[in-house]
Amino acid sequence: MKRMLKYICVLLAFSFYCGVAPVTIAAEKIVIAHRGASGYLPEHTIAAKAMAYAMGVDYIEQDVVMTRDGQLVVLHDHFLDRVTDVQEKFPDRKRKDGRYYVIDFTLDEVRTLDVSERYRIDDDGVKTAVFKDRFPLGKSRFKVHTFAEEIELIQGLNKSTGGDIGIYPEAKSPGFHLKEGKDLSRAILETLKRYGYTKKTSKVFFQTFEIKELKRVHDELLPMLNMDIRLVQLMGGEDAYKDIITKEGISQLATYADGIGPSMFMITATEDSGKTYKITDLVKNAHEAGMVVHPYTFRQEKAAIPEFAGDYEGLLELFLNQIGVDGVFSDFPDRTLEFLGR
Ligand code: CA
Repeated sequence: MKRMLKYICVLLAFSFYCGVAPVTIAAEKIVIAHRGASGYLPEHTIAAKAMAYAMGVDYIEQDVVMTRDGQLVVLHDHFLDRVTDVQEKFPDRKRKDGRYYVIDFTLDEVRTLDVSERYRIDDDGVKTAVFKDRFPLGKSRFKVHTFAEEIELIQGLNKSTGGDIGIYPEAKSPGFHLKEGKDLSRAILETLKRYGYTKKTSKVFFQTFEIKELKRVHDELLPMLNMDIRLVQLMGGEDAYKDIITKEGISQLATYADGIGPSMFMITATEDSGKTYKITDLVKNAHEAGMVVHPYTFRQEKAAIPEFAGDYEGLLELFLNQIGVDGVFSDFPDRTLEFLGR
C-alpha cells in the first residue's frame, strides 16, 4: 500500500496535493548494515563494509574505539581477543583479567594483526566460531582499519557510484575511555566534522549505550564543536535503562536525542521463552515524543529468531510493518532490503 502511494506521489510529483499530503511525509524504513554485511564477511572489515554498500543499504554502522596513541579504529568493542590473532602475536600484552585491550596497543601494532570471524576461545586456546555457518575462521586476510579510512571508503563509493549512503558510528564504552584518559566521543565528533558531518541533515547518526555520555555529547561537545547532528540512545534490558524507558524518561530523552536503538526484546517482551510476546509501549512512546526507533539485531540464524516470529521475514514483518519501527540493524542487509521490496 505504501509503495503504491509512493508511486502515485511520483506521478503527481509536481502537484500541490502531493507536496502536502501526510502520506508523503512518512519516512522510508531504513536498513542499517550492522557491523557491515557481517552475516557474510568478518564484522567491521573493509570487505564487509564494501559488500554492505553494494547491497544498497541506507547506513553502515561503525563501532569505534581508541588506541594507545589516540587513533580511532573500527572494532566491536575495546578488546582485540575475539576477532584477531593478538594472542599469537602479542602473548605478553594481556591485562590481569586475561583480555587484550585496544587501548594498550598503538595503531601500528593493531595494524599487524589479522582479523577473523568472531570466535570463542577455551582455556586451551582452541577457537570456535560464534556463528558456525558464517565466513570460515582464519581464511583469507582481513585487517583492522581506522574510522577515517572507513569514512573515506563510504564517501569514495558515494562519489564513484553516485550513491548517498550514510554512516552510523557508535562510541563504544566512552566512560571506560574517559577513565583511561581518552575522550572517545570528542575524537569521533572531531572526525565527523572533518569529513563534513555537522548538521541534522548530514547522513549520520551518532549512537552510544551510555546515557550520561549522550547527554554530554549534546550539552557540551556538540556546542563546543559547533555541530548539531542526530543522536541515538542505545538501550538494553539492563537496570541502567529502567528509568529512561518510562513514558517520562522517553520524553526527557527526546529533548536532546533524535532516536532510540533498543534491543528488539524491549519491544516484544516474551514470558514463555519466545512462544508468545507482548508489544511494550516503547515504540509508541518514542514516536509520540518525536523520536525514530531503530532496534537491533536482526539476524537470520534460527537461534536469533524468537519462536513467535517464525522466520526472518516473519520477524521483519512484525517489527517493520506491524509494530512500525523506522529501521533495523541487520547482519543480513540484503534479505532485509529484499523484504522491503528494494
Ligand atoms: Ca554497535
